[in-house]
Amino acid sequence: MTGGRPPIVIIGAGFSGLGMAIELKRAGIDDFVVLEKAGDVGGTWRENTYPGCGCDIMSLLYSFSFEPKSDWSRLYPQQQEILSYLRHCADKYGIRPHISFGTEVTGAEYDDDAGTWRVHTAGAQRPVTARALIAGMGPLHIPKIPDISGLDRFQGKAFHSAEWDHGYDLTGKRVAVIGTGASAIQFVPQIAPQVAQLHVFQRTPPWVLPKPDRPLAAAEHERLRKVPGLQRVIRSLVYWCQESLILGFTHPKLIKHVEGLARRHLRRQVPDPGLRARLLPDYTIGCKRILVSNDYYPALTRDNVELVTDPVKEIGEDWILTGDGTRRQVDAIIFGTGFHVADAFDNAHIVGRCGLKIQDAWRDGIEAYLGMAVAGFPNLFLLLGPNSGLGHNSMVFMVEAQARYVRQCIQLLERSGSRQIQVRPEVQRDFNREIQGRLREAVWSAGGCMSWYLDDNGVNRAAWPGSTVSYWLRTRRMRPSDYILNG
Ligand code: NAP
Repeated sequence: MTGGRPPIVIIGAGFSGLGMAIELKRAGIDDFVVLEKAGDVGGTWRENTYPGCGCDIMSLLYSFSFEPKSDWSRLYPQQQEILSYLRHCADKYGIRPHISFGTEVTGAEYDDDAGTWRVHTAGAQRPVTARALIAGMGPLHIPKIPDISGLDRFQGKAFHSAEWDHGYDLTGKRVAVIGTGASAIQFVPQIAPQVAQLHVFQRTPPWVLPKPDRPLAAAEHERLRKVPGLQRVIRSLVYWCQESLILGFTHPKLIKHVEGLARRHLRRQVPDPGLRARLLPDYTIGCKRILVSNDYYPALTRDNVELVTDPVKEIGEDWILTGDGTRRQVDAIIFGTGFHVADAFDNAHIVGRCGLKIQDAWRDGIEAYLGMAVAGFPNLFLLLGPNSGLGHNSMVFMVEAQARYVRQCIQLLERSGSRQIQVRPEVQRDFNREIQGRLREAVWSAGGCMSWYLDDNGVNRAAWPGSTVSYWLRTRRMRPSDYILNG
């Protein structure tokens, strides 16, 4: 604390929480604490340790713009390397002394009179008081295990990809993988050679593109280090290549030609026409996250791997029953079934002005202004909140844009001598009306699929409907007139 003022509290020390902390620090704001439930920084890159875990955005782009890294070992970064990078950032920018590790936030209430948040943490008697609360828990944080009949009877090993049990040896086991999303297609090729039998249960086939990955040579590292501007030029090239994809996402007809690349990839890698047919999606590419992999399809062609496309009906002590009546004996089930997104706040205890619960504010669906501010919840900012996700570019870009914006909000609050800053309800409403109008035309809704971008009513609560440049333009300078400041 400084001068008796309550600090700013950031929840989570992942990419967004750290990015926010660094932004504050670089602006000379030093009185903040980061509450982190785990014992280390890294967020999603600490939690997801499944074999083959990595990022499908190229290394040179997947880093903070102010902290480039020239010695990535590969063109696409692996989990361990990203985690090391985040640890490095926490150290270099002096964030660690601000972090309270092993501190899990269980809820928060706004104190109208004081203009502060009471932040509750597990096991603590007294709440932490915060003059501003910034939630950086990440949108893909709570593992989702499907409610399959009989799962509780299963006697074997079962775990989610984000909670990988490294103590369990898969060698020689009969293993079921449920789900074929971004996580599963990374770990299936890794475990396939190890297990006796692998049954991959696919509900909807993903579109998969080739991954132009390779190790980076020492000479390339040296060039990146020594040639002035080279790193930045390559980063920009990668950024603009990714950014150009947005046209396809917002105008689904344009993205159709990318399906040709994916079909060719499938044809090249899967010789069996029967298997190929079952792997071919029937929705527009981009509707679900586009996956990149060179080893997923080949893994499915192995003798000990079976692609199961009949729906899972029931699970028993040591078996899985599918809709066609087939029972498969398994020792372990691995759920690559994703995360709670639109319903992630269903059980959250966040209470804003006049006792307003976040569930009541979001009765018709989760929404915020620019993904960050929610009417009725003053001095609260969400990082990577509703509709600030991307299908086409690096989320680190969004993290930086949001951290800058939130820092400006906090500076305005302090400059103005006000106690609270909250977004005007009509600004939030108009904003969401606008983006939902655009999202209806975009590939996530028009592409003919269901995905975690859409809530139960089919409304897109996850994606930003435009380019990252357009997001940057809207967040570069916060508009004080969008907010109500109270003394
Ligand atoms: P996901 O993309 O949501 O995939 C979940 C998979 O589980 C889907 O194939 C889904 O099938 C299936 N599934 C869900 N419930 C099921 C059920 N009841 N029965 C059968 N199948 C079921 O989850 P994820 O793979 O963990 O990835 C989540 C997100 O994390 C990604 O979209 C991405 O944004 C991020 N991620 C990124 C990277 C990266 O490289 N940057 C890597 C991993 C994850 P349906 O398609 O039919 O719903």
